[in-house]
Amino acid sequence: MRQQLVAGNWKMHGSLASNAALLGEVLAGVATARCEVAVCVPYPYLFQVQQLLQASQITLGAQDCSMHASGAHTGEVAVSMLQDFGCRYVIVGHSERRADHHESDVLVAAKAERVLEAGMTPIVCVGETLAQREAGETTAVVLRQLQAVTHLLGEQTQRIVVAYEPIWAIGTGRTASPEQAQEVHGVLRAHLRSVGEAAGGVRILYGGSVKPDNAQVLFSQTDIDGGLIGGASLKASDFLAVVAAAR
Ligand code: PEP
Repeated sequence: MRQQLVAGNWKMHGSLASNAALLGEVLAGVATARCEVAVCVPYPYLFQVQQLLQASQITLGAQDCSMHASGAHTGEVAVSMLQDFGCRYVIVGHSERRADHHESDVLVAAKAERVLEAGMTPIVCVGETLAQREAGETTAVVLRQLQAVTHLLGEQTQRIVVAYEPIWAIGTGRTASPEQAQEVHGVLRAHLRSVGEAAGGVRILYGGSVKPDNAQVLFSQTDIDGGLIGGASLKASDFLAVVAAAR
């Protein structure tokens, strides 16, 4: 059985003081977690959070990286820098980056490749807009996004994590029903299996308004292997309740 992963995505939230308070509470309650737990934090706080998580079971992640290994790319952050701070996970292709920074499927795939080259795990986000869902394009959109990655990575696909995040459910309070989510996860799983047996075992997270009251039913679906958690990862009691719902 795949061990589930619950990864918090703090987005552009936090401060030195609030991070310490939040993690203090999370660390006090996380010991009984059955799943793997990670937090993906803003770049400036990687050092602080690395220190706070030392000797804990929570792993550290970043929310993006450069597609370049190093060089003249002002404002970019290389995977080697994330590795320096002990990151295990790097989110790539979050819908907010695809939308705000015009990130293409090809760029997202290149970032995933950089992350793997640095020995870390990319959390590759895919998901459709409400208009695409209503036009019946969900399967085509998520497969196009995932295929760009699997095509580039081939057998290395087995080392990634996928996150299905319907854009219409992110930060909106509107969650995909467990059946809607499972249907898409099943499609993604079938594609991963077509890449290879090991790739078929890749963890597929669900993200989009996961909360304490819907986490358990989502995480009990056959092809849902945990969650990528935005808003609820910023409140310790909510995050811990979501973590407790995973296995
Ligand atoms: C996210 O941004 O990855 C996310 C899932 O956000 P939320 O949980 O707030 O919908």
